[in-house]
Amino acid sequence: KREEQKLERYRPAITLDGKRVEVAANISEAEEARKAVDAGGEGVGLMRTEFLFLKRDDPPGEEEQFHAYRTMVQALNGLPLILRTLDIGGDKRVPYLSLPAEENPFLGVRGIRLCFEREDLFRTQLRAMLRASKEGPVRIMYPMVAMPEELAKASAITESVRREVGAEPVETGIMIEVPSAVMMAERLARDVSFFSIGTNDLTQYVLAMDRQHPVLAPQADGLHPAVLRMVDLTVKAARRAGIWVGACGGIAGDPSGAVVLSGLGVTELSVAIPSIPAVKALLRGISMADAEGVARLALECGNAAEVRGLVRGMLARKG
Ligand code: PEP
Ligand code: MG
Repeated sequence: KREEQKLERYRPAITLDGKRVEVAANISEAEEARKAVDAGGEGVGLMRTEFLFLKRDDPPGEEEQFHAYRTMVQALNGLPLILRTLDIGGDKRVPYLSLPAEENPFLGVRGIRLCFEREDLFRTQLRAMLRASKEGPVRIMYPMVAMPEELAKASAITESVRREVGAEPVETGIMIEVPSAVMMAERLARDVSFFSIGTNDLTQYVLAMDRQHPVLAPQADGLHPAVLRMVDLTVKAARRAGIWVGACGGIAGDPSGAVVLSGLGVTELSVAIPSIPAVKALLRGISMADAEGVARLALECGNAAEVRGLVRGMLARKG
């Protein structure tokens, strides 16, 4: 029986009407790649590389990063690894970088903006990533992209580093976590292979509620229809451009979130490792037609609680 349960985890998540949704893992250190595979993850949809930079006195060098990324590639044994470039700033502070204090760090020099300020760190990281890409399917993803020029600049730097290290081109994507990126999605989609929606930041920027605010954070629910409409716009733009869309924020691993995001056309859910088996089991038990139906209704709701009620109703009818 235990063996059966174990095999079950490795099967893909296919809905009752035959639609596949990939379920991947969010990780933040090399050792987790093995655990992601053991849990039935179909790859890593988000490696938060900034964690390699936290809790230490200096930045990890190229070799150290290369070893970490290679360890992940090897553990994944052919499954894709999405490495997100440094997303420092905002809630993630790194004392040794001596970055100027900011009044509004979430609206400040974070993510890709910091990578441009500290191009030395960015290039070192890209070198390590691209070297690791020689050993398996590595994809590179940029965080906090708000404007097409940023994507163009990041792509140009990546291309120059790729030539330096003699790696083959890799698939690149961007996080969709800033409202302007949603509104510019059609244009951004021309220059990437995929989008991954970061619902944690997207929610805080759409609702103008700090994701860590002691009073407001509980209200900042990614199932708010305002956020879901942003997801809908993103998927439509991506479809027109022929690229795929994943989601890697917290609601991707929440049962109601997994249903609604899939119903809106998100085809990869990247979730915390412990949630992988449950999200796969949930998707196997529903039909995509029902998820799409509930997602359409969710867009018309007035708040997140109504959306959650709708999904609960749908899942209850399934028994
Ligand atoms: C997000 O913003 O939803 C996301 C996945 O990135 P992070 O939580 O690391 O900001
Ligand atoms: Mg984010």
